[in-house]
Amino acid sequence: MKWKWFPHIEKRVMSDTTSRVPQGAARRDLAPATRPELTADVAVIGAGILGTAIAAAAAARGLRTVVVDRLGGAGLGSTSASAGIIRVHAEDYASSVMAHESLFAWRAWRDHARVPARDPAAVFVECGTLVLDAASDFSLRIAQVMDEAQVGYRVVGASEMRERWPDLELGRFGGPFTADDPAFWDDPRGEIDSAVYTPSSGYVADPMLAAQNLAGLARCHGATFVWGQPVVSIARRGDHVEGLRLGDGRRIAAETVVNAAGPASGQVNALAGVGSDFAIRTTPVREELHHVPLPDSMALARTGIHLVDSDLGTNFRTDGKALLIGSNGAACDPPQILSDPDEFAVDPSRALWEQSVLRVAKRLPGLPVPRQRQGVAGVYDVSDDWIPIYDRTDLGGFYVAIGTSGHEFKTAPVTGDLLVGMILHGLDGHDQDTDPYQYVAPNTGRVIDTATFSRRRSPHTATGGRG
Ligand SMILES: Cc1cc2nc3c(=O)[nH]c(=O)nc-3n(C[C@H](O)[C@H](O)[C@H](O)COP(=O)(O)OP(=O)(O)OC[C@H]3O[C@@H](n4cnc5c(N)ncnc54)[C@H](O)[C@@H]3O)c2cc1C
Repeated sequence: MKWKWFPHIEKRVMSDTTSRVPQGAARRDLAPATRPELTADVAVIGAGILGTAIAAAAAARGLRTVVVDRLGGAGLGSTSASAGIIRVHAEDYASSVMAHESLFAWRAWRDHARVPARDPAAVFVECGTLVLDAASDFSLRIAQVMDEAQVGYRVVGASEMRERWPDLELGRFGGPFTADDPAFWDDPRGEIDSAVYTPSSGYVADPMLAAQNLAGLARCHGATFVWGQPVVSIARRGDHVEGLRLGDGRRIAAETVVNAAGPASGQVNALAGVGSDFAIRTTPVREELHHVPLPDSMALARTGIHLVDSDLGTNFRTDGKALLIGSNGAACDPPQILSDPDEFAVDPSRALWEQSVLRVAKRLPGLPVPRQRQGVAGVYDVSDDWIPIYDRTDLGGFYVAIGTSGHEFKTAPVTGDLLVGMILHGLDGHDQDTDPYQYVAPNTGRVIDTATFSRRRSPHTATGGRG
């Protein structure tokens, strides 16, 4: 069944490079009588965790796959800044199902990505996630979603928290507040007496390595990578994509092109001339992660945990040596919207670093507050409703895997499969807009209606919570 359309693709791509030489104005970028240097069934723009996952899935199905990245290797874009948290809780069904399904890949990563024994492979640490305050709206929503998605969790009480994570101060601070708000310094009133605990959540300490592993897998299946070259234009033939042109003038003929350009997704859509029918937009947003050393004397150095703390507006995970702290995007912490995704300060700001560390120090009173600022900033590609856009566009053969909104590292192994399934569904003659692809998760059997990720959807309303 899956090969049904393949001879048809072969035929069309062959004709790209031979008989279908330029036809005047309809053919914008491929110069007359110039053969493309590369020919692909699928060309992927971007070799982050998504681009490499898509390439691996496409090449595994026998599609001639070419990946182009303007940087010198896989995972060097926003993926390299990721905290690598793999959490199974979410405010929407599809995200929770995909995160749960992705655990099958993360737990067996070396095998999944076929990393040779001599090479380094990313490692998934299953430390569990604790979402404080099981009575909050957020916790109730994620519990409802996990019930629907049949993802395991349990509610733990204060006594269990004290016993298992004795460093945690369970006072309720009534925030979140910014550090310059006098209320920030108030004593806690009452106690957080329960939390939602998902034991199967965890983190991958080296997200860039995970992308490099997937690039290796894609190569095993025959994919080609072009490094250090930006895609500078996208050719169309009538209402169908025809190929790419790179900064050095090379051309790639491709029947299908996927925009997996991360925070630069809007620029790439502009090159393709798509976007006018998008109901959901994407925006680059700067985000800081802060590192704080964790003393050996603290129990967390041994127990580990990913903690989501909406009372303080923060979340952290630990590898036993340090905390990696991020923001929950509370109303008092406005997003840092960028006009250019490539222009941003990489170092953490003093104000945000101090606020982050002070917040966490309230939850972990034993944490020494260091003088030295450490951390990194990266860029989220944020969609209007914080749900990604995985979809076709009104340019035939041009797909997008964008708007990952700071949380799609975790699901990438599944997203690669889902997106390639969607492409094959289109090649089989289905219109994704009216007859959306139904993705069946191979391990859990759960079904995801990919209309959830449509560019034309009405924004999901109960999403946007982070951590
Ligand atoms: C600070 C931070 C923390 C995060 N924490 C988590 C987390 O804990 N858990 C989680 O699941 N997710 C997290 N995320 C989100 C996650 O990292 C992203 O969703 C994911 O890495 C996006 O991958 P990507 O492949 O789409 O983008 P990228 O990794 O940015 O890759 C896009 C690639 O496209 C290339 N490119 C762009 N334009 C062009 C062009 N014109 N021509 C050629 N190449 C081009 C870029 O060079 C880049 O390599 C975090 C993100 C950040 C920034």
